[in-house]
Amino acid sequence: MGRNFIVADVGGTHIRTACFPVDSQKPIDVKKIHTKGPGTPHERLINLIAAVAPEGDEIAAITIAAPGPTDPYEGIVFEAPNIPEWKNLPLKKLVQDCFAVPVAIGNDANLAALGEWRFGAGIGHCNLVYFTVSTGIGGGVINDNQLLLGVRGLAAELGHVTVLPDGPLCSCGQRGHLEAVSSGPAIARWVEQEISKGVSSSLTVKHPITAKDVSMAASQGDELARSALGRAGSYMGITIADFLHIFNPSMVIIGGGVSQSGEAFFGPLRKAMHEHILSEKYLENLVLTKAALGDDVGLMGALALAQKLDESPPCP
Ligand SMILES: [Zn+2]
Repeated sequence: MGRNFIVADVGGTHIRTACFPVDSQKPIDVKKIHTKGPGTPHERLINLIAAVAPEGDEIAAITIAAPGPTDPYEGIVFEAPNIPEWKNLPLKKLVQDCFAVPVAIGNDANLAALGEWRFGAGIGHCNLVYFTVSTGIGGGVINDNQLLLGVRGLAAELGHVTVLPDGPLCSCGQRGHLEAVSSGPAIARWVEQEISKGVSSSLTVKHPITAKDVSMAASQGDELARSALGRAGSYMGITIADFLHIFNPSMVIIGGGVSQSGEAFFGPLRKAMHEHILSEKYLENLVLTKAALGDDVGLMGALALAQKLDESPPCP
């Protein structure tokens, strides 16, 4: 009889689950379905967890990466983008009631940081800051080998820091957050605005422009596209300097689709980071790198959480 971890990554579009033997990083089964379909999203999740659990084996723990603000202590998802049913959902209890094994949940970006630290780009670094820059900007902080959670588990919302007080509206309803300036949709929106002001570009606004289009155009020398990525990179660089001052990490990891934009993004990012740093001491031996785990980061983060849970189970 084997002993396995079941891990899940829940997004607004897809739910993925995987089964890992407790001593392995290679899954023995992975399954993926749409989040929306017959049944509620949490019923679909529970069915998909059951679907990867080998019959007769012991489940050592189930861990779930959940989108949106989450209380990892109580196991509650406060809300989840694109899953309107998930408001103050007691997800940990719902899963525990079904399987009667240890269950833990965490915010997906926080767990991504944990995954990169344990299995990805951050191996060997005790202090790191992780960003994912895609549709939104999320993050996580590893401080002295511990994931920073805060009193309700809401720490490290690294994309929701103000960089332009009167700037564009953020998905959270506030103005001028980093996410509203440097995320993929923010980059695309800025390009569309500039084109509508008459700035010339190889991109046209006939079809909605995506950050991927901007990245492609920039690589072909389009000046507006290069400016857009440079602007997003600069604000990232300013924000990273802030976080270096707060956390003094030895590594900054950047994941998500926008991190694939190359030097048009990373050049201005590094320049702004250097210009806004308090002391060169923060930059000595600092490693700025891209994430290593790709699309698997949510599952691997949940696996890192499962291993932690198995090593030091919470008091009953
Ligand atoms: Zn925000």
